[in-house]
Amino acid sequence: MTEDRPLPAEIARLLRQRLEMGAGEIFLEGLTREQALRLVTAARAAGGPSQPTASRPAPASHSAVTQPPNGEPGTDPTLPDDYDALRQEALQCTRCRLCEGRTQVVFSDGPRDARLMVVGEAPGANEDQTGVPFVGAAGQYLDLLLATVGLSREESVYIANVLKCRPPGNRDPKPDEIETCSPFLKKQIDLVRPHALLAVGSFSGKLLTRREKVSLGKLRGAVHSYHGVPLVVTYHPAALLRNPRWVRPFWDDLQLLREVLAGAGEDP
Ligand code: SF4
Repeated sequence: MTEDRPLPAEIARLLRQRLEMGAGEIFLEGLTREQALRLVTAARAAGGPSQPTASRPAPASHSAVTQPPNGEPGTDPTLPDDYDALRQEALQCTRCRLCEGRTQVVFSDGPRDARLMVVGEAPGANEDQTGVPFVGAAGQYLDLLLATVGLSREESVYIANVLKCRPPGNRDPKPDEIETCSPFLKKQIDLVRPHALLAVGSFSGKLLTRREKVSLGKLRGAVHSYHGVPLVVTYHPAALLRNPRWVRPFWDDLQLLREVLAGAGEDP
């Protein structure tokens, strides 16, 4: 690896090797957080911008370990079935109060034929300014961790949030906001048809599993199903930055996700 311009595959190989050797706190001990974030920034610059691409056939079926208790969440039949039309409708949406304080709607990032779809919570200040989800420190950390299993938003990961507009002051999403906005997300999932879903944080985890009263800790460690798509739930990368002890459980969840994708004929 060169000092100035490491390749994503080199970063992935290095981190995977260290984590598999049991270095659960690699980012604080072996690499400082600043060093790790610099590596990811360089890797993303080397990978170039992500562009939406054409949709592809539906993935192979998977066997899920757990099923939602009350059937699958519905989608809004009034939303367009065409991806570009859906995106345009979201970009102009005024369905809830969050339209009043946003700079712009944050719809997605990553290719539309992605193998993996990551679902987060809501845009923060950086996302609100750029229109791209997960671009701050938490997003860079997520990119770094995904790189350890050979996944990147440049090639294989589509990212979206439960809410498309930033809640004021980065407060938690309110139930009526989730109810109003989540049909956009559900339609995105149906149109992107990823091979697997990774819900990061309790809001997306509870929404997609329909287990609103179950803690995030209890949703982890199993493969759920959303409309037949395998779903793994884990911590939000922002929570990992606050509490490094959750890096190891996140790593375990990534290995579960890796097994799910391998079962679908994928190879991260
Ligand atoms: S958060 Fe969702 S429902 Fe509310 S205005 Fe933004 S796009 Fe529309």
